[in-house]
Amino acid sequence: MKAQWVFDGGRPCLDLVNTLRDRHRGGRELLTSPSALVEWLVLAGLLPRPVPASPELLDAAIKLREAVDRVSRGEGRPADVRLLNRHARKAPVPQLRIDADGVAHRRLDAPDPVEGALGALAVDAIDLATSEADVRICAYDDCGLRFADTSPKRNRQWCSMSRCGNRAKARAHYARTRGR
Ligand SMILES: [Zn+2]
Repeated sequence: MKAQWVFDGGRPCLDLVNTLRDRHRGGRELLTSPSALVEWLVLAGLLPRPVPASPELLDAAIKLREAVDRVSRGEGRPADVRLLNRHARKAPVPQLRIDADGVAHRRLDAPDPVEGALGALAVDAIDLATSEADVRICAYDDCGLRFADTSPKRNRQWCSMSRCGNRAKARAHYARTRGR
């Protein structure tokens, strides 16, 4: 089955949180294998190309994801904060290279590409936690997807208009016409 990735969270770290779908109903795991994690990281733009990943890194990604979820909802525990900070230290850092022609190049260095990608996600979660954005849960009752509300009035309700916004409108219309 093709994984049902969604990238509507508005932030990479919330897109990571949304790899556990249907949280209202106990959760449906989309990061089912190290290769699924790598596929997601490539689609999220955090890895330039697929690389091998270990089951330990999958485990680390899932633990990071749940820590990000709690922190983004204001329910972070001290252990979650330590975990985010530990990952953030492995985020890629820019390094300057000057080639033989004297041209400057910016390269991102990370000890391990997957660890570096998880580090970038932790940095994004730290940036989100200290930003003005409100983290919301989609208002459609069985959706549960998280998103960063950066709308001017802070009144965005749906993870995406094309999915839950239209479902909600259709249901409201059905309820109105049936009530007549
Ligand atoms: Zn939704």
